Amino acid sequence: MKLHFDVASCVRAVSKFSQCTKCVDVCPESIQIVEHLPNFALSTGVEASACVGVCPTEAFSLSDFSTTEFFFSFLESKIRLISPKINVPCISVLSVEHLISLALVSEETITVDLSSYDETSLLFEHIEKSIEEANFVLSSFSGKQLDSNYVAQKNETENNEPKKETTSRRSFLGNASLKGAVKHKKAFDDAVDADEMQKFEIDVSVIEKIKDKQLPNKRKILFTALKRAGVPDVYEVLPEEEVSFTSQKFIDESCTNCQICHRICPTGALSSNGKFSLIHFDAMLCVKCRLCHDACEPDSIHLQSGFEIKEFFEPAQRTLATFNIKRCNECGNNFTYTGGEQACPRCMVEEEEAMSLHNNAVWMKEISNNEDVDKGEP
Ligand code: SF4
Ligand code: SF4
Ligand code: SF4
Repeated sequence: MKLHFDVASCVRAVSKFSQCTKCVDVCPESIQIVEHLPNFALSTGVEASACVGVCPTEAFSLSDFSTTEFFFSFLESKIRLISPKINVPCISVLSVEHLISLALVSEETITVDLSSYDETSLLFEHIEKSIEEANFVLSSFSGKQLDSNYVAQKNETENNEPKKETTSRRSFLGNASLKGAVKHKKAFDDAVDADEMQKFEIDVSVIEKIKDKQLPNKRKILFTALKRAGVPDVYEVLPEEEVSFTSQKFIDESCTNCQICHRICPTGALSSNGKFSLIHFDAMLCVKCRLCHDACEPDSIHLQSGFEIKEFFEPAQRTLATFNIKRCNECGNNFTYTGGEQACPRCMVEEEEAMSLHNNAVWMKEISNNEDVDKGEP
């Protein structure tokens, strides 16, 4: 099993302004930022799959394990245990959205097996945090929760019910729909085979791919799961910092309508109309990659302090900014009118430059004339 990196899906490839370090933060020993892009050696052990789960745009994936296939095959199986010993290479391969979706669509409570993790490790901390977040979000609109009592799980493993586990595992692996979606942790460790750092470059094909706005599969899965969840009587508002995978935003008056944010948003959460006279935002398409914030020069785009759960059940496109668009008297192109100006900013700059060149030429001529007078030349 190998780790794959799709450069075109990484927000760092989309813009030099991106400050995303989610993959590095979760696996600093294996992934580094080199020349603005993530780089890694494949011989990174099981921890490497944490980057798969945490990347907002699914730029990382595994060669023989698909989180999407896992989601559907898990639902078809009778097992309600997610474990590196049975059905995932590492729990961290699943994002918070996957965990919420799995809990939502499962009739019975799902247990996440943390018994094989070192409680002091960064990986354990990351997985626990993801489960906590999933349970916190779930608690705001559903009675479903994930069980992650790793102590109980450990005891169960120590008491060892090899027969039961083997039987369960066999029946899970025997599921015809798995298609290689399930691999044992050891197989995963054994398979990582390269020591060299991977080198990624942005070529023409990558640039073409970047232009396509794409919603990650994990978000499509969440949509599917939410459709099956009951609508709550009251919609709660969660603190923005407690929701890592989506956001709500607002834009302040300093926005210059430079159009960068909606042009580079990888999912299409931010968009505009044909005249560029407004900026729309759809929270359910936002993956909180922060690219729009990083790229906005006047820092006009902000996170709303609370995330409204209502978005899950009544997704709405909101207008964050509107602009007065006028046609430039000089070049005929549209520009954002702020009051009084008759030409677009580019023509105004060109006009200023032309004026400055003209003034310089006049000044130089005057100096030259004065020098001629001083020398007594006619
Ligand atoms: S978008 Fe994904 S791969 Fe790129 S820097 Fe962020 S977490 Fe890493
Ligand atoms: S919010 Fe920022 S990036 Fe977006 S159009 Fe306004 S100034 Fe440009
Ligand atoms: S709107 Fe959301 S998905 Fe789009 S760039 Fe901003 S944070 Fe990323």
